[in-house]
Amino acid sequence: VVEVCRISKSFGRQSRVLCDVSLTLKRGEMVALIGASGSGKSTLIRTIGGLIPVDAAPANGDGACGVVRLFGLPMQENGRVTRHAKALRARTGVIFQQFNLVPRLSVLTNVCIGSLGQRRTLLGAGGYFAAEDKRTAMRALDRVGIAQLALQRGSDISGGQQQRAAIARTLVQRAELLLADEPLASLDPSSSKRVMNILSDLNREDGITVLVSLHQVEYAIKYCPRTIALRNGAIVYDGPSAALGRDFLNEIY
Ligand code: ATP
Ligand code: MG
Repeated sequence: VVEVCRISKSFGRQSRVLCDVSLTLKRGEMVALIGASGSGKSTLIRTIGGLIPVDAAPANGDGACGVVRLFGLPMQENGRVTRHAKALRARTGVIFQQFNLVPRLSVLTNVCIGSLGQRRTLLGAGGYFAAEDKRTAMRALDRVGIAQLALQRGSDISGGQQQRAAIARTLVQRAELLLADEPLASLDPSSSKRVMNILSDLNREDGITVLVSLHQVEYAIKYCPRTIALRNGAIVYDGPSAALGRDFLNEIY
């Protein structure tokens, strides 16, 4: 589902934030991305989602350098986000560390926004979502356990509830791939478990491929069969989460 072939990323003239990174995610995998602060987790997730362009491959490199492919189509090539990006983004749900919801809109409306990608006419008469969209959104909210909060404002629910609403929006979107960038940041252990259980359910029951960056390795080990570790923008581990050694973890953090 995801193929990243030798990508690098620098911002301005500063040293490289991602350094010759390659990885492949198969359909139905649930993979954790770990690494110290500043190791490049968010940057990698954003390049996969086509939100920022990677560096162009060096002229002397081979043609496979600097390519990100999703669902078999190029998302990034030659240092540019391709014309397939829009269609590929529609199939990809992205969850950020924070600011996932529009604060002044209701939770329900925030989740309805997930249906916009599939339609040509954005909204029904008067700029409201159609009853059918609302029903779909309610089902998604029910699935993540916060249907009772549908009419609250996005800004008036807790951080963990906001993350669950953001996940519900990707369900409405019918995303096949979920890129979650530290969805547990600033959540307490019980909300963290809830969010991870939801991601895990979507992965097992709906076959959604999940790449989730995490600060705490315990969650990677408990919920994700495979972990990729970044250090200074390079992959230093890619394998079974259960095999992550304590010494190794001390070294990368
Ligand atoms: P954290 O765990 O703190 O979220 P991270 O692993 O997600 O860290 P990134 O956010 O990917 O790390 O950042 C990696 C490096 O890239 C950092 O040194 C950061 O300062 C730099 N960086 C990220 N975005 C930009 C930008 N837009 N402009 C310049 N530098 C950037
Ligand atoms: Mg980050």
